[in-house]
Amino acid sequence: MDTSLQAPTQSAVDRFLRYVRIDTQSREDQSAVPSTSSQWALANLLATELRQLGAADVRVSDHCMVRASIPGNVSGGAAVPVIGFIAHVDTSPAVTGANVNPVIHRNYQGGDIALPGDPAQVITVAQHPILGDLIGDDIITTDGTTLLGSDDKSGIAAIMTMVDVLARNPLIVHGTIAVAFTADEEIGVGIEQFDVADFGAEFAYTVDGGMLGEISDETWSARLATITFLGKSTHPGTAKGVMVNSIHAFADFLSRMPRDMLPETTEGRVGFVHPYSGVADVEESSVKILLRDFEMSGLESQERLLRDLASATERTFPGVTVRVDVKENYKNMKEVLKDHPQLMDNAFEAARRAGLTPFTTPIRGGTDGSKLTFRGLPCPNIFTGGHNFHGKLEFNSRRGLEKTTETLVHLVQIFAERAGE
Ligand SMILES: [Zn+2]
Repeated sequence: MDTSLQAPTQSAVDRFLRYVRIDTQSREDQSAVPSTSSQWALANLLATELRQLGAADVRVSDHCMVRASIPGNVSGGAAVPVIGFIAHVDTSPAVTGANVNPVIHRNYQGGDIALPGDPAQVITVAQHPILGDLIGDDIITTDGTTLLGSDDKSGIAAIMTMVDVLARNPLIVHGTIAVAFTADEEIGVGIEQFDVADFGAEFAYTVDGGMLGEISDETWSARLATITFLGKSTHPGTAKGVMVNSIHAFADFLSRMPRDMLPETTEGRVGFVHPYSGVADVEESSVKILLRDFEMSGLESQERLLRDLASATERTFPGVTVRVDVKENYKNMKEVLKDHPQLMDNAFEAARRAGLTPFTTPIRGGTDGSKLTFRGLPCPNIFTGGHNFHGKLEFNSRRGLEKTTETLVHLVQIFAERAGE
């Protein structure tokens, strides 16, 4: 942090260490939001702390969404847009988040990091070359028995510390800032309960990314295809010439899928098709397939391919009807964000002022921001310094948390500076 500034009342690291000890794991297949009542504990704590830090209009919704507003202090006429910062309180259903026991490896000097609670859990230099950049840093891991919850308590800690720094340093000039902490991000349902109008921001950033400096304005465009194979069931003892077994058509269809366009054979900007779940029965079989690409034209050609393969299978199996149903899931937020280049420009400048080298990589997934962007709140994603999300080897570091915080403090100032230009 800039040494001319008053330090926050609590450091980003100390906040982080408190928040990760609160179990906020979300759970799939629950009808209610939040999916787990434990998320309330952190949401209510954050609301209390926001009030203590002088935030205005602090509320927790019936769906466990925290929102608050930090009044701007810009004098004169320049209209600064209201900027939002969003992070999520829940952790992944994939690995337990109960009894998280964070371990600080102070002044890391290189080498593999064995986690004390489970000898099988080792963060190796071979698999994590990023460790080479963390020499001298304090690395924060789990004890090997849980996930850490850096995703996304790092984002929460950075946003809260930013609010703290702004409260302690009234000379930092910024517009009005909206803050939100959401529930059930990991299971993809919480954001439906997010009230964009009530949030009141013109633009926002999710603080939910990885490596320091990584800022993203691209996500997949996504569709879901359901291929259904309709056959004819009959008693197998008297099936000759009557039974049409849809399972053979199902298998034929899958065997036609090109091997070079699957999640396990693609990376970077290359899209994929991913059969991930299915049912096989004589009368009716079906398979669900994810279609993912950064370009709409790529999605179109994936869909065309699946329809062509379905027709080929249908021709091979007379009597089987193959139905292809395709649904839109979400779209690449770049389609909207390309019209708001200042969001990436300002975030890049903020990262540079924090001494980082900003870069962008497309996200091979969706974010809450991609949904919000199409609901009228353009919303790129900013790094948190965290690594290995959703697993026991998850880690972040003191520098990761501090540089993320510093970037956010610079970012609100840049919006104020540039408002008059
Ligand atoms: Zn996350």
